[in-house]
Amino acid sequence: MRWSKTFIPTMKENPSDAEIPSHQLMLRAGLIRQLMAGAYTYLPLGWRSVRKAEQIVREEMDRAGAIELFMPALQPIDLFERTGRKEAFGNVLINFHVQRGDRKVHLALGPTHEEVITDLVARHLNSYRQLPICLYQIQTKFRNEERPRFGVLRTSEFIMKDAYSFGTSLEQLNAVYDQMYRAYCRIFARCGLKYLAVEAESGPIGGDASHEFMVPASNGEDRIVHCAACGYAANLERAETGRASAKPGKAPGAAPLTKVATPGATSIEQVSRMLQCAPSQMIKTLIYKADERPVAVLIRGDHEANEAKIRRALAAKSVELADEATIRSVTGAPVGFAGPVGIQCPVVADHDVAGITNAVTGANEADAHLTGVNVGRDFQLTSTHDLRMALDGDPCPRCKATLKLVHGIEVGHVFKLGTKYSVSLAAEFLDEKEQRHPMIMGCYGIGVNRIVAGLAETSFDENGLIWPLSIAPYEVLVIPLNVTDPETMELAERFYRELSEAGVDVLMDDRDARAGFKFKDADLIGIPLRIVIGGKGLKEGQVELKWRNAAAPVKAPIGEAVATVREMLAERRVEEAAAVPA
Ligand code: ATP
Ligand code: MG
Repeated sequence: MRWSKTFIPTMKENPSDAEIPSHQLMLRAGLIRQLMAGAYTYLPLGWRSVRKAEQIVREEMDRAGAIELFMPALQPIDLFERTGRKEAFGNVLINFHVQRGDRKVHLALGPTHEEVITDLVARHLNSYRQLPICLYQIQTKFRNEERPRFGVLRTSEFIMKDAYSFGTSLEQLNAVYDQMYRAYCRIFARCGLKYLAVEAESGPIGGDASHEFMVPASNGEDRIVHCAACGYAANLERAETGRASAKPGKAPGAAPLTKVATPGATSIEQVSRMLQCAPSQMIKTLIYKADERPVAVLIRGDHEANEAKIRRALAAKSVELADEATIRSVTGAPVGFAGPVGIQCPVVADHDVAGITNAVTGANEADAHLTGVNVGRDFQLTSTHDLRMALDGDPCPRCKATLKLVHGIEVGHVFKLGTKYSVSLAAEFLDEKEQRHPMIMGCYGIGVNRIVAGLAETSFDENGLIWPLSIAPYEVLVIPLNVTDPETMELAERFYRELSEAGVDVLMDDRDARAGFKFKDADLIGIPLRIVIGGKGLKEGQVELKWRNAAAPVKAPIGEAVATVREMLAERRVEEAAAVPA
């Protein structure tokens, strides 16, 4: 491709509305343009990268035995009603009525395709002999995201590879899951991403049933804890803290239990200010409803409760914060004054609560708190649990080294679904004894646009993007310095032709512009290898070859330039492939 014939609108200045590097660089390098909030056009360079990432995803899915198909984005709403996801998605589900003749038809734009695929499989597969099967597509998804932002990292329309497996047993599910997991590792490594596979909330199957693939990045919206020593990684929702029950401090200085007036102070912050005590000295008493029964959950004042952990600790199907009436009935006080002493419901506590001596808690009475509260004397705990969000510096739950909290961009997700969709949409199979069972499903998603944005977010320098060969829009950029010089152009055309014929993706900057201007643009769009033709080198019969990420160019005699470029590319491909797991 010739620069003058394509469409690469680079920008010198940082667009004012772009907050993070990937968004700035993708705009500046002419990869994307915004249509409206959450909707972007992929310009020719950006689209080439997306297509390359998509092709890598496709190759690895095929290699892992998944079968490609293509489903409609437009879907009947009743499928979502049958699975209960019309309600669960809420505003995120884009749905509307269209007029067809004298009927109104209610449609949705697919945010994912569990419903459509399960309905399809329910209608056409019914024997254990046909299973397991893993089907996938690469297609546009629609989600009315509450806050589309950060360029193409979170948009209301994006390309997803979504795969769905159907099997007869947990063993079959586990086997496909492992295959998909390995395929994901290969995909992200081939795309040049540094990634972590992190444990995520597991849903119905429990155990190790869900992993998110995260690209660590300071602007990532997800929070992950990671142990560099043993490799443990989990998202914040899931991460264990590695804490055990803190021994109640055999307080030599146990203070008497004292009620103090705290008029209007209902939050940890307000009470801590009013009573001049640190939040870590306080016990937060949160009243939850666990499967409709009230329970008080105690968390240290400076810690954050984790609902998924609370649900697991209580072996409840659902937990939610209690309403005001429930809080009043168990505490006898308005919201904001709950405490464990004398409360009228079961109490569970986080490990770290047991270690607080002379704690400050609500008094179960309006406008009052208690000081000098001690476990064992003023209230009892039979056991403690891990109920809070992990923190930077917590011990690793596996090896006791120290956990680090990092931010990440979720690029993929593998999930053991179980039978949620196969039950609600009647995807059943007959076993050897002609017995009917719901199929056991898994789902496996990758955000194709996020692969490209994740790379842009983590691979750049002050001059612009730095692509790996694998998903670079072009592999080689030929820069003739003086396009009015026939000798220069003849060489440029020859390199362009010979490399293209050898299957290399070449872009030629044939614009009549100053060298400095072309170099700036070259660095900005970040094509991995560039060939510069002109100047003193040309007079000496040489051209300059430079990797985007190398400090200095190497010189090659004109006659050997094409062969040298091909060798350099081959070496780099081997290096990139070395990072890909088997
Ligand atoms: P998030 O938590 O970031 O909203 P999700 O967990 O809802 O994502 P999934 O339903 O697991 O997303 O979808 C599979 C993949 O699709 C994600 O791992 C992510 O890479 C991508 N993806 C999801 N939502 C978006 C979006 N709004 N824009 C771009 N890519 C997205
Ligand atoms: Mg997800």
